[in-house]
Amino acid sequence: MSNDTLSSPLELLRRHKLDLKKSLGQNLLIDTTHLARIAAAADLAPTDSVLEIGPGLGALTHQLAARAGRVVAVELDQRLIPILRQQFADQPQVSFVHADILKIDPAEAVHAQTVAEQPTAPPSSPYKVVANLPYYITSAVLRHILECAHPPVLAVLLVQHEVAQRIVAQPGDMSLLAVSVQFYAHPRILKRVPAGAFLPRPKVDSSVLRLDLLQQPAVPGVAPSQFFAVVRAGFSQRRKQLRNSLSAGLASTKQQADQWLHAADIDPSRRAETLSIPEWGRLTHTVRSAIGDGKNANLGNFA
Ligand code: SAM
Repeated sequence: MSNDTLSSPLELLRRHKLDLKKSLGQNLLIDTTHLARIAAAADLAPTDSVLEIGPGLGALTHQLAARAGRVVAVELDQRLIPILRQQFADQPQVSFVHADILKIDPAEAVHAQTVAEQPTAPPSSPYKVVANLPYYITSAVLRHILECAHPPVLAVLLVQHEVAQRIVAQPGDMSLLAVSVQFYAHPRILKRVPAGAFLPRPKVDSSVLRLDLLQQPAVPGVAPSQFFAVVRAGFSQRRKQLRNSLSAGLASTKQQADQWLHAADIDPSRRAETLSIPEWGRLTHTVRSAIGDGKNANLGNFA
């Protein structure tokens, strides 16, 4: 183990004269109990490959490296890469990629590193994602990992507490974010993490969110693009009745929207936040059937 391996993020910042960049969401988690809990929540085994998003100065990476067989950590801040490589120099199962996670394929990032060691590794081997996410790209990262060609089997993510609550919401409080995550995964909040566990201290608490990916999307038999065209239309006008938001979002008449909603057994005066995922599924089926019948030539947004 090199000396740097034992250095705390604080010591590393001082030694390398680094300042943390707010623009990159650099709120480091410095509480080791919480760091260990996050890694433990991913149920890691020596056979597991883990993708870490934003290793920062490697505090969570250490916890992951102690439990998983392979860790690939993708970091956007070029200044941190040499420090990370030096710290983990004696741990060949850990590798660092300098990239924007939103611009690379998550599964390919893991595979490219794995194949260097095991040339016969299959291209879609299962992997898990663990991250203390930069707040400014939480929704984008969620979409990126859930919608990619080979999503992870599991993700354990530290996100703002309020965002975690929105993700696990039930009908009555649903949002586009909740539907988007629950279409692909079963989300659970595992633990609240106080703002004081971070450096620098953010304004709000965070929560550890675990996403168990579903074997197949929650609504079988519909294309995600069609499902989300309907859901986006439903949420396009906040707190409006569905007959209004759907007709505006899908460029149709209110009468047409009423017909779709009745056919799906949904009261047109309900609001988008009250619908369950199966109800969005039924609605997508009725809209799709109408388009299939050629009755709605003006559904330009239904792509
Ligand atoms: N993992 C460390 C921890 O728990 O203390 C740092 C977490 S910090 C909240 C987020 C990290 O993500 C920072 O190191 C930041 O530079 C990095 N980051 C920000 N945007 C990124 C992006 N688009 N792709 C990859 N890493 C990113």
